Amino acid sequence: MYDISWANQPTLQSVTWDGARQRVSSPVRTALEKVLSALDGSVLTREECLALASCSGDDLFGLVVAANQLRRQLVGDVVSYVVTRNINFTNVCFVGCKFCAFSVGPRDETAYFLSLDEVAQKCREAEQWGATEVCIQGGLPRNLPPFYYRDILRAVKSLMPAENTGSIIPNPVSTSGISSKPASKLRRTVATIRVMKMKISHPRIQKKLHTSTSASTTPMAWL
Ligand code: SF4
Repeated sequence: MYDISWANQPTLQSVTWDGARQRVSSPVRTALEKVLSALDGSVLTREECLALASCSGDDLFGLVVAANQLRRQLVGDVVSYVVTRNINFTNVCFVGCKFCAFSVGPRDETAYFLSLDEVAQKCREAEQWGATEVCIQGGLPRNLPPFYYRDILRAVKSLMPAENTGSIIPNPVSTSGISSKPASKLRRTVATIRVMKMKISHPRIQKKLHTSTSASTTPMAWL
């Protein structure tokens, strides 16, 4: 185990990169100073990225101090957040991701399916509680009507003020059986609705986590 007794707010707030750099090994120091100078991590080479990803001890301490300094320079100390509500409209799903403890089969006694009115009711509650966003989530049931997701999103948008956003994960759109033409119509219909949560997007990782890779939406498929 690495000694990370220094990893607390008072220590990190009191140490600057200039105070930490002498403790850091030369390759890691060079990489970190490149980033601090450019204010941009993309200047790193692959080898430098690997060195930072696997560093420990004083090098790890230097990495954290440099990251804290970079964060302070780029975005300051103001932290913002969004009050959001996740609405899981069903727990029925055919995908069977290996990590999932949520989904059930359609005949399971705990299976549920919210009506559009129930989704709308949850939106109203969310708004009363101060939410400015709802995220539509759920399992991927088979044989949904082609415009089911559009209708959910319309129900959300009819209740939430214009500046608010509904979000939907991409998998439901890509696995709902809608052809590319209605899919574009869906995108137009809900143009103000973000598609979020690409989840684990790399195909290699998806293959390990999902029992049915066809149900996993790759970034390119969605775009
Ligand atoms: S797609 Fe979502 S609900 Fe379905 S099994 Fe995977 S994690 Fe669970």
